[in-house]
Amino acid sequence: VESLCPYCGVGCQLTYQLEGNRIISVVGRDGPANRGRLCVKGRFGFDYIHHSHRLISPLVRKDGVPKLAEDYVDPGNPYTHFREATWDEALDLAAAGLARIREQHGGQALSGFGCAKGSNEEAYLVQKMVRTGFGTNNVDHCTRLCHASSVAALMETIGSGAVTAPFSESVNADVLMVVGANPTENHPVAATFFKNAVKAGAKMVVMDPRGQTLKRHADYMIQNKPGTDVAVLNALMHVIVQENLYDEEYVQSRTDGFEELRVHLLDYSPESMSEHCGIPAGILREVARLYGNAERAMIFWGMGVSQHIHGTDNARCLISLALLTGQVGRPGTGLHPLRGQNNVQGASDSGLIPMVYPDYQPVSDPSAHAFFEEFWGATLNSEPGLTVVEIADSAHEGRMKGMYVMGENPAMSDPNASHVREALCNLEHLVVQDIFLTETAVYADVILPASAFPEKDGTFTNTDRRVQIGRQALDPPGDARQDWWIVQEIARRIGLDWNYDGPRSIFEEMRGCMPSIAGITWDRLCEEGAVTYPCRNVGDPGDPIIFGDGFPTPDGRGKLIPVNIIPPDEVPDEDFPMVLTTGRHLEHWHTGVMTRRARVLDELEPEAVCEISPADARRLGIVPGAWVRVTSRRGVIELKARITGSTPEGLVFIPFCYSEAAVNLLTNAKLDPFGKIPELKFCSVRLEEIDFPRVSAPQ
Ligand code: SF4
Repeated sequence: VESLCPYCGVGCQLTYQLEGNRIISVVGRDGPANRGRLCVKGRFGFDYIHHSHRLISPLVRKDGVPKLAEDYVDPGNPYTHFREATWDEALDLAAAGLARIREQHGGQALSGFGCAKGSNEEAYLVQKMVRTGFGTNNVDHCTRLCHASSVAALMETIGSGAVTAPFSESVNADVLMVVGANPTENHPVAATFFKNAVKAGAKMVVMDPRGQTLKRHADYMIQNKPGTDVAVLNALMHVIVQENLYDEEYVQSRTDGFEELRVHLLDYSPESMSEHCGIPAGILREVARLYGNAERAMIFWGMGVSQHIHGTDNARCLISLALLTGQVGRPGTGLHPLRGQNNVQGASDSGLIPMVYPDYQPVSDPSAHAFFEEFWGATLNSEPGLTVVEIADSAHEGRMKGMYVMGENPAMSDPNASHVREALCNLEHLVVQDIFLTETAVYADVILPASAFPEKDGTFTNTDRRVQIGRQALDPPGDARQDWWIVQEIARRIGLDWNYDGPRSIFEEMRGCMPSIAGITWDRLCEEGAVTYPCRNVGDPGDPIIFGDGFPTPDGRGKLIPVNIIPPDEVPDEDFPMVLTTGRHLEHWHTGVMTRRARVLDELEPEAVCEISPADARRLGIVPGAWVRVTSRRGVIELKARITGSTPEGLVFIPFCYSEAAVNLLTNAKLDPFGKIPELKFCSVRLEEIDFPRVSAPQ
C-alpha cells in the first residue's frame, strides 16, 4: 500500500508491504521529498502499531480512583485505574462532561489540543468542534512548542508563516546556512539533500552550540555559546551592510526599515560580539562574506532558533539576513524553518491555532469572523484563545475545567511537566483520544482508542507545503476507531449537526474555506500523490517557490526589524552551574510513544541518557554509562551519562523521549512574548554522579 512516513516533516513517501493485517516491511518510494530514501525511523519504525499496549476498547476511570500527579499506570495494564466501556457509554460520558462545563462555566473553561501527527482533516474537525461546539478559540497543538516563534516572525515580516522554497532547492544553492537545527537526526532525508548539495559544490555553514554530524560536511561550524544567536546574526549583518554586500536594488524595491536596521547594526561589529558569542571575529567576517557574496543562498533553521524567549528575535534576524541580500523567491534561495512533526504544517494551516481560523485568518478580524460564522453556520467567539502553556497554567489555577486531547502528550512534551501534570489532575473532566495509554491519558476520565497512521486515509502537509495523501493499509485493532469518526461522535453529542462520511468529504469542505488549497482535489491527490500549495484554482500546478514578485503583506514589501540581545530567562549560577538543552535522538520521535514501542529503534537507543562534554566528565569524575542526577529549580531526574565530543563544556543535552527520565520535569516554561513558545533550549541545572537510580519511574 502506497503511503507516507508518519514521523518527521520531511514527508517521505513509502510503500507498506503487508502479510495479512501486519506490516512486514517498508520501502521508500520516489516521492518529491525523498527520491526513494528513508531514514531508520521510516524503514524500521512501524511495528509499534502491533504492540500489545495498543488501546483496543474505550476506557473510563473507575469510581473513586483519584488523580495524582505522580501516579504511575502500567500502559500494558490500565485496568488498575480504568475499566472497559462500550463506545456509546464512553462517548456519552465524554460529551456529557464537556457539555456540563460549557453550560456551567462557559466555553472559555474548555479547551482542545489537536494532533500534528493526525491528518489535515482530523485537525480541521478538532478546531471546528472547539470553536463551534465548545464556543472558544482555546485550541492549540505542538506547533506552540516547535516553530510558533518562527511563524510569528515570518507573519510579521513577510506576511506568511510557511517556507518560501522546498528543502530540495538546496541542490540549486551556492551557500546553505543550517542554524539551530540538527537535520541528520531530526530531518535525516532532508540532510541527505544538503550533503548532495555540498558534494555538488555548495558551501555550507552550520551554526549550533552542539557539534553535530552535519559539521563533517560543512565549510564553517559556528559553535556559538547557547542563547547568543542574535549576537552572531547581527554581527553577520553588520559586515554585510558595512562592506556593501547587501542587495541595494532588492532592499530599495522590496523592503522597509533598512536605514533603521543599518544604524542599529553599527553596535554589533564581529569584534564587539566575539567574546559574547564565543566565535572569533575573523570567522564571523568570513561567514558574512560567504553568505553576502552568494548568488543563491538558503537558510534552514530548527528549534535551536525557535525555542527561546527570544525565539521570534532569532527568526527576525534570519529573515533580515535573507531580505538584505535578496535571497528569497528564486531557485536555490529561500527561508525554510524545518517543520518537526509530519503534519505540523498542515495542522497549523487547518486552524489548530488559537488566534487564527483555517488558512491563518485572524479570529479577531471582523471579515474572517463573519465568513466563518456563515460558512460553519455557528456563532463564534472573536477573542483569540489560550496557547498550550497558557492552557496548562489556567488549569493549574482552576479556571480551565475541561479538556479534549487528541494525540498530544503534554504530560511529557510540555515544559515544567510537574506543573502540567498537576494541571491535568486539576481538571474536572479530561477526554483523551490516543492509540496508547500515554503519560497524559493516565489523568483522563475517558480514553477513546484511536487509529494509528497506517490505519487511516488522510492528507498530510510536509515541511515544503506539499499536500500528500496517506492511505489506509490495515484495520485498527480491536474496537479502536477512526479519529475523524470519534471527533464527529463527540461533536454530535454536544449538539453539532455533523454528517461527514469520511476524510474526502471533510477535505472538500476545507477547500471551501482555505483558498490556499482550493485548487487541490482529492482525486488529483490520489492520482499524483502530492501537490504543493498555494494552489488556488483547479488545474494550477502548485507553487513550490514563492514571493518572487512580492510578499503577501498589505504593501507587498518585507520588513527589516532591528533586534537587541536579550539574555535567556534563567542563566547558570552557583547552585545550578550548567545549561540544559533538549531535543531528539535519531531513533526516537518526540515523546517516544511510538518509537519506544518499535523494536529495532528501541534496541538501538534503549535507555535514557544525558550527553555531557569530556571536560565536564573529567571535572565531575563521571565515566561513560555512570548514573547521574540532573536537578533544576523545577525537578530532578536520574539517567545514564554519555560523554560526547560534540557537547561543549558547561552544556547538558537530554532527549525528551524518555518517560523514565522525563527531561521536561526540569525545563523552564517562560515564554517568548510573541510566539508564546517556551524556552526549552535553555535552563540552568546541576549534575552529579549517583550510585544507583532513586527517582526514575518504572518502564
Ligand atoms: Fe520518516 Fe522523516 Fe525519516 Fe523521512 S526523514 S523516513 S519522513 S522520519
